[in-house]
Amino acid sequence: MPDVYLDNNATTRVSAGVLEAMRPFLSEAFGNASSIHAMGQKARHAVESAREAVASLVGAGTEAIAFTGSGTESDRLAIAGLLAASPEKRRIVTTAVEHSAVLDYCRRLDATGYSVVRVGVNSDGVLDLDRLADALSTETALVSLMLANNETGVIFPVREVAELARARGIPVHVDAVQGPGRLPMDVKALAADLVSLSAHKIHGPKGAGALWIRPGTRFVCPFSGARAARDIRQGTENVPAIVGFGAAARAAGEALAEMPRIAALRDRLEETILGADGRATIAGAGAKRIANTSTICFGGLEAEAILIGLSERGVYVSSGSACSSGSIEPSHVLQAMGLPSELTRGAIRFSLSRDTTEDEVATAIECVKDVVGRLRAFAC
Ligand code: PLP
Repeated sequence: MPDVYLDNNATTRVSAGVLEAMRPFLSEAFGNASSIHAMGQKARHAVESAREAVASLVGAGTEAIAFTGSGTESDRLAIAGLLAASPEKRRIVTTAVEHSAVLDYCRRLDATGYSVVRVGVNSDGVLDLDRLADALSTETALVSLMLANNETGVIFPVREVAELARARGIPVHVDAVQGPGRLPMDVKALAADLVSLSAHKIHGPKGAGALWIRPGTRFVCPFSGARAARDIRQGTENVPAIVGFGAAARAAGEALAEMPRIAALRDRLEETILGADGRATIAGAGAKRIANTSTICFGGLEAEAILIGLSERGVYVSSGSACSSGSIEPSHVLQAMGLPSELTRGAIRFSLSRDTTEDEVATAIECVKDVVGRLRAFAC
């Protein structure tokens, strides 16, 4: 039976076009983009062309895009750079359901004298905007929130948050790592000040991220002291990865066009599984979600047992977020939604991509029915 990969929020397959674009820069075109000879200039040209592609993916100007080594690095750089620009402000406002890229860093900041407010969500994973508004004060250095949750797919009201914050002169950072190819992306529409992106969520290579910084934003890179996006990250650029990111960004629009088909597949997956298992529920079912993501809580079962059973049948999913799948800690996102441990312990995330086919979803459904049916029989 062929493999069915439904873990695209963890990472996506590098597309053939991306691989082709990268290949020369892994072999004969190996120049350093900082060298002034022709080989260096070829690499420089490729990096700048990738910068244009990533900028255009989010409707931005090229001068505002910094390449980084990952979405995690972009998130932390954004927060650190905003804090460094306003050292007198000691409060950070974020949400309880951010990716560990933000939350783990905030935990560290908490321990070093900052006050971090983690705004909660309701049982559907929807952000409490009133609480967020209440948390904004003259002490607030920044707001950091995600565009779409990597576990539930719930979409956050970034524009509303940005308007609330802007009215008080507070900059907003958006972790948009799960956005491109799933949602239309435009930094003007988001009204945010900094936006983090990652290549490997959009069929690009791992180890390539970007940070968009609105020109004029008060930002100081804590390492270099640079204030302009292009000067922030020093050191030799990872030309093949950046070129791959550019190629993936150019193709992200095609993925967006596939989203109605993907939404229909995701709905079929959910409806059939809910129909087959009376104790299954969808996390965030009542919220607006990105089309490719579904976390199904199999009440009374252990997610690890389901995940392993599916993996043995060639179906690859994740339990909660991929970053916590090595441990049996329940997902902080589902906990923040107030779901009982009976449900959080059995939560499986299915995340589709533009490559996902009808046959793959049908196979996954049959395997889920089989695995869950056996585990339920065993539990009796
Ligand atoms: N933010 C979100 C919402 C994510 O889903 C992820 C990765 O899963 C990250 C940040 C981290 O991105 P990267 O894997 O490129 O470090």
